[in-house]
Parts: sequence; structure tokens; C-alpha cells
Amino acid sequence: MTDTRRLWSEAVNRLEPYVPGEQPKAQKLIKLNTNENAFPPSPAVHRALTAAEVDRLRLYPDPNSQKLVNTLADYYCLTPDQVFVGNGSDEVLAHAFYAFFQQAQPLLFPDVSYSFYPVYCNLYDIRFQKVPLREDFSLVVDDYLQPNGGIIFPNPNAPTGMAIPLADIRRLLIANRDSVVLIDEAYVDFGAESAVSLINEFDNLLVVQTTSKSRSLAGLRLGYALGSAGLIEALGRVKNSFNSYPVDHLAEVAAVAAFNDDDYFQNACTQVIATRAYTVAELKALGFDLLPSQANFVFAKPQGQSAKAVFDALRERSIIVRYFDKPRIGDYLRISIGAQSDMEALIAALKDIAPH
Ligand code: PMP
Repeated sequence: MTDTRRLWSEAVNRLEPYVPGEQPKAQKLIKLNTNENAFPPSPAVHRALTAAEVDRLRLYPDPNSQKLVNTLADYYCLTPDQVFVGNGSDEVLAHAFYAFFQQAQPLLFPDVSYSFYPVYCNLYDIRFQKVPLREDFSLVVDDYLQPNGGIIFPNPNAPTGMAIPLADIRRLLIANRDSVVLIDEAYVDFGAESAVSLINEFDNLLVVQTTSKSRSLAGLRLGYALGSAGLIEALGRVKNSFNSYPVDHLAEVAAVAAFNDDDYFQNACTQVIATRAYTVAELKALGFDLLPSQANFVFAKPQGQSAKAVFDALRERSIIVRYFDKPRIGDYLRISIGAQSDMEALIAALKDIAPH
């Protein structure tokens, strides 16, 4: 084999790829490493994916994804020109970075936060500055004053799971009217306050959400941005320069069905939140240090054992969680909230692993 890296452009040589959590093939694993939903998608999604819709794959999809855009606009009480859809929120975020964050001042985001943000910055040559979280891992909006740059953070934050209230986001928006403030709400449906209600008040606010977590559709790759018509128009320009079809036809059909079954969604979120409460109580009883989570995962540090040792011991018992070792904060486990039975198996395994 010859080394074809000599054929790569310099820009590709400089890229540091993002490494997603592993997706092992074995069926018997308890998979608590990538914050997927333990519940299947709504039955309405099964019903919507008919043979006729599959046959329609012969044609290109609607270049405006109009049914989906209209459905999301109705759902969030916005107008269709305030909605942008794409292939997972990762893609929507990539377009937003390109559209908004090459500014006079560096982009600000928290240290610790979603590890894809520096990857997009490197891809598009965007200067950035990481703002340390406070000692207790809280995110304080006064640390984010950036009159003509950009600001992004997840709310709840990842991987801490901690959320900030809407009043803080409002303060941030007032202080930064000439910067795009992007709130990444991948996990917002598990108990945090969404900033969508502020969109008509602040034309510099962009909210990005996904169907991957709370709507059990990670495999569909469907994310969306909500914001002022001007910001959405910019995203459309970027998207069109890559690919003139925002999402594929089956993704559109499935996502419309999912948003039209709100009862199923509400019920699944309620159950995830109840299972999180069970998990938190049990982990605390086992002596874990936990951050207060409003997401579908918890960020936890075992006592008396290293997080790496617990991670390895869980793996031997076919339970996969995510191991983090970060410079400023040390090593932690991020544990997704799975089905109640998964979490009971996790707690039983941790009791077994605990030093006696
Ligand atoms: N934002 C955050 C904070 C995330 O943790 C994730 C999931 N890894 C995403 C965005 C991307 O989600 P998706 O591309 O599946 O919509």
C-alpha cells in the first residue's frame, strides 16, 4: 500500500477529526455511551414509512423540505422562514459555524463543552477562546461578553448535564446584540428551559435542536435550527453551496410523523427523567460524586476507585459508558440514561465492582 496522504491538501492534513462514541455490533451489550434514547421511535413513524414513500425514493426530495419546515414552525409557534433543517444537528452546527463565526473577535465557548466545536473551528479557520466553567462546573453568562464575535454553548451543557435558566440567556442576549448567540439544545427536552420563546425578541439568537435524543431518532440524522428569518437565510445560502436538498425524503416523512405524536414524546421524556432520578439516587448511595443533570445522561466520579478502573470493569460486564479524562477536571464517567432495566443492571454491576 502506498501512502496516499501525500495527495491530501494541507488543510486536510491539519484537520483533527472528531471521534464519535463507539457503536459496537454485539447485541447483548448495555449501551450507555452515546446518549441515545432507550425508547423506540413513536409508532406513528412506523406507520408513516409506507411502501409508497419508499417507492418515492426514485425522485429527488422536496428541495425546501416544506412539510417538515411547516410542521416545525407550527410546533414551535414560529413562521416557516424561521426554521432550517439538516442532516443531524452536527451538520446544522457546521453550517452555522461557517455562516456566523468568522468575526473580528474569537468565538467563545465553555471549557468543558461539546468537543465538536473546536473541530468546526479548525475546519473553517475560526479563532476561538475557551471560557473555563466555574469551580462547581456552572456556566456564568457574565463570562461571555463578546460585542462582535460569537458565542455558543449547549444548554444543558455536555458532558456536565447542567443547565442555566432562561433569565440568564436573556441577559446574555441583551449584552451581546451584535454577536450571534447559538444555544445548542440537543438535550433541552429532559428538564431545561428552551430559549425558543426568545426568538421573536432577539434577531441574533439561533437555537439548534435535534431529533436524536428526545425523539429517539438518532439513526435518522435530523437536526434543525430556529431563529430570525435573517439568520435562517444565511444558513440556507451555506447549505445550498454544499447540497441543495436539506434532508432526504424518508427523514422528512419520519420526522413529520414524530412531531405529530406529541403524547408519545412527552411520555418518553417523563420516563427518562424518572429513570434519571432513580439512577442519581442509586449512584449517590454508592458514593459517586454527581453533577446536577437536566439531560439524558449523568456526569459522575466514583469514590475510592479511578473512573478508568470502573469504566474497564463495566466493560468486562458488557456495559458501555463514556470515559472522559479532561485536563482541568480529571477523569469522569458519562453515563447515558437507558431503560429502567439497563440502569438496574448498571447499579448491580457497580455494587459488584465497588471495593469491599
Ligand atoms: N450537540 C451536542 C451537545 C451533542 O452532544 C450532540 C450529540 N453528540 C449533538 C449536538 C449532535 O447531535 P445530532 O448530530 O445527532 O443531532
